[in-house]
Amino acid sequence: MSVFSAPDFDAHEQVLFCTDAGAGLTAIIAIHNTRLGPAVGGTRMWPYETEAAALTDVLRLSRGMTYKSAMAGLPYGGGKIVVLGDSRTDKTPALFQALGRHIERLGGGFYTGEDVGTSPEDMDEIARETACVFGCATGGSGDPSPATAYGVYLGLKAAVERRLGRRDLEGLRVAIQGLGHVGFNLGKRLAADGAVLVGCDIDPAALARARDEFGLVAVDPADIFDQEVDVFAPCALGGAINDDTVNRLRATVVAGAANNQLAEARHGAALAARGILYAPDYVINAGGLINITFEKPAYDRDVAFAAIETLYDTTIEVFDYAERNGIPTHEAADRIAEARFRA
Ligand code: NAD
Repeated sequence: MSVFSAPDFDAHEQVLFCTDAGAGLTAIIAIHNTRLGPAVGGTRMWPYETEAAALTDVLRLSRGMTYKSAMAGLPYGGGKIVVLGDSRTDKTPALFQALGRHIERLGGGFYTGEDVGTSPEDMDEIARETACVFGCATGGSGDPSPATAYGVYLGLKAAVERRLGRRDLEGLRVAIQGLGHVGFNLGKRLAADGAVLVGCDIDPAALARARDEFGLVAVDPADIFDQEVDVFAPCALGGAINDDTVNRLRATVVAGAANNQLAEARHGAALAARGILYAPDYVINAGGLINITFEKPAYDRDVAFAAIETLYDTTIEVFDYAERNGIPTHEAADRIAEARFRA
């Protein structure tokens, strides 16, 4: 397994291979860039098939965090931790405490939080060994999805204003793919503003909740891309915009919460070529990240949510840059972020 010549190695500052045999810990900590401040990134626990797959994931995810933090104007860099193991069977308090000691040795250079496979309770165990952890069950800011949904809502509004020239959402037709934590909260906000919602979920309970709570009209997951709507909001998994779907969309705005919405970068160009305005995923889904960085020294929801409001202007800034330079919006976002963390 190569590291420095791995395809996803991108001048990462540090890649640490961590073990604690007594605690059963095997983890990789990747610090991509700390030019703007200590690295921040969640701890993912996953039964990777190979060590190389774990390395690929941590290199990619840590790089993504650098872009997200820089774009959100946060005094943080990008990092990520992957714990190799099955979160259903391999979790112990000792494992997370051992990880906490590894984080503590970084001397304030890395802050972690929950991610796929880890929970606020696991963060409590890490917190026994280091103060460099967000999202604890004890004294944390709780479920991040309302904060994420608020940012997505603001980014969506910025895109609607730019593409459709309107500030109100009355009667705006929006298709939401995925009505989980973020999709549901987004739908609630949009419905309160008078938007007309269709949506889908592979989980019938999630769909029923959205239908009952705010009158969303359910459609089959396979048909969500063909809806006659103004906005398509991907809030399920990554890769929603791909070769199969990019030409099916009827919407003129794509704005949602899911990470890595573009299956490949060229799909961002394909959206632009069709006149569809794409609000880049990591620009508008940074609300949860912004929110947790306000946990210390004491969390104040109002202050945190006021900070999330900057995402509206940030989204507009990306659109302006893209227009000025004649490039797709996803590329504009990358260029703005890179100029910040490479300055
Ligand atoms: P979630 O698991 O609560 O919700 C996702 C929903 O999508 C689930 O209800 C699931 O059943 C549904 N789904 C999965 N595949 C589907 C498909 N093919 N068609 C329709 N529905 C499908 O997750 P979440 O926390 O709401 O996050 C949603 C997305 O936003 C994810 O991509 C996540 O990485 C991203 N995101 C979330 C946050 C956050 O604060 N939770 C922050 C940033 C980004």
